[in-house]
Amino acid sequence: MRAVLAGVIGWPVSHSLSPRMHEFWLREYAIKGTYVALPVRRPDFSEALSGLRKAGFSGANVTVPHKESAFALAHTVDAAARTARAVNLLLFQENQYSAFNTDVEGLVLSLRDSLRKMAGRTGRAVVLGAGGAARAATLACDQLGIPEICILNRTNARAGALTRDLSVSVKANLVAGAWSDRQALGPETQLVINATSAGLNGSASPDLSVDSLPRDAAVCDLVYSPLETPLLARARACGLSAIDGLGMLMHQGARSFELLFGVRPTVSMALRAHLESALHNGA
Ligand code: NAP
Repeated sequence: MRAVLAGVIGWPVSHSLSPRMHEFWLREYAIKGTYVALPVRRPDFSEALSGLRKAGFSGANVTVPHKESAFALAHTVDAAARTARAVNLLLFQENQYSAFNTDVEGLVLSLRDSLRKMAGRTGRAVVLGAGGAARAATLACDQLGIPEICILNRTNARAGALTRDLSVSVKANLVAGAWSDRQALGPETQLVINATSAGLNGSASPDLSVDSLPRDAAVCDLVYSPLETPLLARARACGLSAIDGLGMLMHQGARSFELLFGVRPTVSMALRAHLESALHNGA
């Protein structure tokens, strides 16, 4: 059987944990294949895709700055990607690009256990950000049955645009707040998700006041490098549940792996330890 070729396209992409994660599963399930980092600059995206297809690649995960171009180039788009208007996986099929969003499912699975204790409560979630990750986070909160979702973004107008786009597709009451609202999240907030890139690689986390949250609230940071962001450290210091971004990465990766290689892999403690060691060693 021919080896399956796949990878992750982005710029920069050398920091991505995806090759390490997919290679772990390829070894674990003894699948003949390879998954590599594919550094591609923004203007070269379309040409790179056709080159990869001709070279026999089956598909690729897509990361910054190509998520919008991937959406525009796709011939077919799955429901999650269509609703989120964000793509993180392209499969190359018979001269067609099929687009998927596995981030929504990844975050749902990552949050499900942590949020079990919220079941039946009328809490609200606050999502920080208005890019592709914030769209995925909003849809994930809705799928988890959270009744009210408030979007806050540094550029307020983008929070309004996200709310208008997604409110037709969600059951939750979706509202856009002002960025300054992050300083007073209030006792009705049960979950905060940082879906901005603030906190990435040593930059400052969003300066929200976690001490105004109820004691049983949870704070999730989609940034996973570093694993313990300043925001999660502050949440933990206040006795709140802190959920890091590695869970979402592994679960979205499991669905991507299934679509690329045909086997649904397990998200195990061994995989988490393998990825954490890469982060500690400066991956
Ligand atoms: P994006 O489309 O570029 O959006 C970036 C967002 O961050 C925008 O809302 C931007 O606000 C905001 N932002 C940037 N710098 C900021 C700062 N200093 N203060 C406040 N807000 C700031 O990126 P994305 O694709 O949505 O990704 C966002 C983050 O999620 C990244 O760190 C990414 O690594 C992470 N992520 C993690 C996973 C996972 O599996 N764990 C999956 C996907 C994404 P403006 O609109 O004002 O510019």
